Amino acid sequence: MSRTALATIHLGALRRNLARVRERAGKAKVMAVVKADGYGHGLERVARALGDADAFGVAALGDGLRLRATGTTTRIVVLSGPDEAADLAELRRLHLDAVIHHESQLAWLEADRDARPLRVWLKIDTGMHRLGFAPDVARAAHARLHALANIDPDIVLMTHFAASDEFDNTLTVHQVAAFDGATHDLAGARALANSAGVLGWPATRDDWVRVGGLLYGLSVIDGKTGVELGFEPAMTLSTKLIAVNRIARGERVGYAATFECPEDMNVGVAAIGYGDGYPRSAPSGTPVLVNGARAGLIGRVSMDLIAIDLRNQPDARVGDRVVLWGHELPVEEIAAHAGSISYDLTCGMTRRVLFVEDEA
Ligand SMILES: *Cc1c(COP(=O)(O)O)cnc(C)c1O
Repeated sequence: MSRTALATIHLGALRRNLARVRERAGKAKVMAVVKADGYGHGLERVARALGDADAFGVAALGDGLRLRATGTTTRIVVLSGPDEAADLAELRRLHLDAVIHHESQLAWLEADRDARPLRVWLKIDTGMHRLGFAPDVARAAHARLHALANIDPDIVLMTHFAASDEFDNTLTVHQVAAFDGATHDLAGARALANSAGVLGWPATRDDWVRVGGLLYGLSVIDGKTGVELGFEPAMTLSTKLIAVNRIARGERVGYAATFECPEDMNVGVAAIGYGDGYPRSAPSGTPVLVNGARAGLIGRVSMDLIAIDLRNQPDARVGDRVVLWGHELPVEEIAAHAGSISYDLTCGMTRRVLFVEDEA
């Protein structure tokens, strides 16, 4: 057990981040997006910490099932709706809201004789070109949903932004205009903004905001950390040094011998690797914290191990704590080194990582 990589989830940070989102969301209700196992933090624990949210957003029906099994009565929205006609009965049984984005789903709904009510969100594709009805058919889709007796008449209208993280990108302006054009004479609450929309496009907050990244303290803006945006990281990934070795000048470290010691030096070996979800693409020089101080990765990331340059840490010993990311070492910084984004890193923790909860 002592060798296990630990992901410590800070429940207080999640709660405070939700409060910070609320401050920025104006009058809008907040959907806490908890897809991908709560961005890798653990679906059930995240939902427990974020119990004050007005709704939870999940990617798939199975996540809705898991959430309902916790006993929560909070509204849950399945962001891609039913994947097949048989999902409709399950959505109704579990009182899950369904996003309706495609003609095939409309056809399943029209053939469905189940009398139990179903709440739906109508998704309009305003330029992301992933899911949603084209603006010119949105009104017709809305009318067909409205005509169904087993569909709740309060249909929420939604769209998703493709580039709201760029505060000067006119694509968002065009998307908002397309949404307004398609929906101006339709009744119903409106849901446009994601995390970046809340931060950079206040006019899009409307009735609902759908926020993921900021709740976990993850930056949604390139070149900024979550902390710089005023949020707290909800995950600390840590492990221990399991070896400290003196390696001679000219010797090489790790697979493919990519790092050559420029002098006689101490090399630490920490018990974490890509088998835990630490990115294999992280190159030499990627920072880690050893006893709270920065040190750099050397050589290749292995499945179970990483090597660390301890030249500026002569006192580091076997058993000392190594932090891969967390409050003092932004995951955004590691992601930048690894050529990825923070979301990808937190979502990538494997089953080998031991998750522990920190209430504060
Ligand atoms: C993931 C997702 C969100 C949340 O996005 P963030 O950028 O993490 O806030 C909102 N809406 C939809 C439809 C999503 O898929």
